[in-house]
Amino acid sequence: MLDELRQIVTEVSKSSDLRAALDLIARRVRSVLDASVCSVYVLSEESDPEAEEQTLVLQATEGLNKAKVGQVALSMHEGLVGLVARRAELVNLEDASQHPAFKFVTDIGEEPYHGFMGVPIIHRGEVLGVLVVQARERRRFSDDQESFVVTLATQLASAIRHARASGELTRMGNEPGEFDSAFSARGLPGSPGVVFGTAVVVADGQSLELVEDREVEDPDHELAVLDSAIEAVRQEFEQLKIDFARASGSDEENLLFDAFIRMLSGGSLIEAIERHIRRGQWAPAALRDAIAEHAAVFEQMSDAYLRERAQDVRDLGSRVLHKLHAESAGPTDWPEQIVLVGNDLSASHLAEVPTERLVGIVSSTGSGSSHLAILARALGVPAAMGVSDLPISRLRNKEVVVDGYRGLVVVRPRGSLRDELRRLAREEAELTEELAALRDEPALTSDGFRVAMHVNIGLLSDMAPSLTVGAEGIGLYRTEVPFQIRKQFPGEEEQAHIYREALETFTGKPVVLRTLDVGGDKPLSYFPIREDNPFLGWRGIRLVLDHPEIFLTQIRAMLKASAGLNNLHILLPMISAVDELDQSMAFIAQAVDEVSEEMDDVQPPKIGAMIEVPSAVYQADALASRCDFLSIGTNDLTQYLLAIDRNNERVAPRYDALHPAVLMAIRDVCAAGDRQGCEVAVCGELAGDPLGAILLLGMGINSLSMSAGSLPRIKWVIRRFSHVEARDLLEQAMRCERPSEIRALLNQALEARGLGGLIRAGRY
Ligand code: PEP
Ligand code: MG
Repeated sequence: MLDELRQIVTEVSKSSDLRAALDLIARRVRSVLDASVCSVYVLSEESDPEAEEQTLVLQATEGLNKAKVGQVALSMHEGLVGLVARRAELVNLEDASQHPAFKFVTDIGEEPYHGFMGVPIIHRGEVLGVLVVQARERRRFSDDQESFVVTLATQLASAIRHARASGELTRMGNEPGEFDSAFSARGLPGSPGVVFGTAVVVADGQSLELVEDREVEDPDHELAVLDSAIEAVRQEFEQLKIDFARASGSDEENLLFDAFIRMLSGGSLIEAIERHIRRGQWAPAALRDAIAEHAAVFEQMSDAYLRERAQDVRDLGSRVLHKLHAESAGPTDWPEQIVLVGNDLSASHLAEVPTERLVGIVSSTGSGSSHLAILARALGVPAAMGVSDLPISRLRNKEVVVDGYRGLVVVRPRGSLRDELRRLAREEAELTEELAALRDEPALTSDGFRVAMHVNIGLLSDMAPSLTVGAEGIGLYRTEVPFQIRKQFPGEEEQAHIYREALETFTGKPVVLRTLDVGGDKPLSYFPIREDNPFLGWRGIRLVLDHPEIFLTQIRAMLKASAGLNNLHILLPMISAVDELDQSMAFIAQAVDEVSEEMDDVQPPKIGAMIEVPSAVYQADALASRCDFLSIGTNDLTQYLLAIDRNNERVAPRYDALHPAVLMAIRDVCAAGDRQGCEVAVCGELAGDPLGAILLLGMGINSLSMSAGSLPRIKWVIRRFSHVEARDLLEQAMRCERPSEIRALLNQALEARGLGGLIRAGRY
């Protein structure tokens, strides 16, 4: 049986789609077990918010009436199949008809079978369906046969999950007609907010990869064609900059468009296209190859944020291709409230609609770190990203609701759902107005506790949204990001130039530059590190202390960049022992001496240690006594305290910074900071979570750093609480033993203050 199992597993993995995989399993299992019937029931998706409950739909059978596939749906409370799903447990019966849960389903071709084995199909704790084997005779399936079917069910689980995510499952059975009833699909949160609008679907256009090779006789003609297409796209971006400035009341988010415009104004990309043309290619294929080369540089990076930049390059290429083909895009009769919807939407697609009418964005690809999402947040436009399970081509001119908190899109909602969404959208509009009005107000509690609101950035282009939301400084500049997008270590001058821009932009305000934090999940392509356990390996401060030449170059660049500004703070990542801090401080002192000899007006920087490793929590006093500030990195601290990989999707539901152990660690660090008179800030994601922010406030933390998108909401929360109330909630939270209890407590506190809009705690 083992050989057969291996063979079936291989065949399933090669199946072209879920239908083929299900049919194959039904056929092969029936034959190997010498059974009369093998069927697979798959749990319907929760795609219809108005549907009362999920059902188990017959999706494949060998032995029953195949015409009933996709037609028969059992409730979770019906028959033995429902029992298996409900209990999430294998049921193996010699005579099913004697079992109290037995139900004879007519119509399906069921004869009075006796032997029954039902195995739940489970993916990470969630029941997705049931695999059933039946025998005409009285018969209990053997232990070997049980394990055989259980193993195949696990194979099916990932196939079903995959089909769900790609929308294949919806197409197999539940596809809505012409959206007579509500239909919804879920992706990833891109930009918060709830809004109603009319879908404007961006045409896919020709994909760059599909451009065919074509040799040309007259390269000069191709160069001229290219030139005019590029000029046209450049002008579109210039216009987009103006539109954006008008729509957002600021011209700060133009850095992305500036970057596009720069790429189109000469330099390596244009040179590469021209080179391909001179070698005899026609312009579209030359564009295809040059874009592929440029995108590949980003694509090889394992950092998700940087990989997204490859998409920016490809978007730019598609835009130019679009012009080369002189296609006319989109409707001209614009709806009043535009929700821009597209299969592979990017920032450049915004050029296709009048931005003053843009109220929402839905893209089938991308995530919260896509540039499109960053821009959406800066503009305050709700966005749902990576919504793969949406029949986009059929949405044109349909009414859609975008819930950017959940990454949810609802098409033509009806009845009470519609009323509820309307109410949320109204509340949301009021909230947006209030948040905007707070831009220049301090994050001050009702009893006068002041919190400094700083931003986390990775690339200089992230600074634009930071200014829009009224950040009071940079609390974390992840300097590894500029290192990752280069082909070699940037030199001292190049680094100094980058850092200067950040320090100058926030003149008079603190700018925290974190030293290179590579290793772990942030490799450098030009400095490969191979380790079995990279998160526990050569990363952060450990690496640069072993390479003082890299460390000193960076410190010198930071110091040079700070000349005359005196707002430099240097933050040291992954400190796990006092020696690491001592050595780092000695290197910094050496660099200060050297640079002071070379130039005037260089002040010693403030020095901080990151607290993101458990040993640093226990030695917080020793660390605090040595430096000017501590900054708690809750992302890694959660990872290392709970021993849960922060990037592993499998354990993601268990990764929770509101875990009592994490909160206790933060509280202990704050106490150490107090004892030593050392400032404590928080720069991990917890600072940008409304629930987390209340607790941090309760701990007396007066400096929070987060992404620009989170800042206005956190400021709002802080202004609605008193320090005393936050302390009281913290005390209650510290008595809880589970993250879920802490979450419930804080959700309730937010709801009670009418701040439910910030969290959307599952109210529809
Ligand atoms: C952290 O670990 O919380 C942190 C802010 O650093 P990073 O996310 O860059 O590891
Ligand atoms: Mg970290």
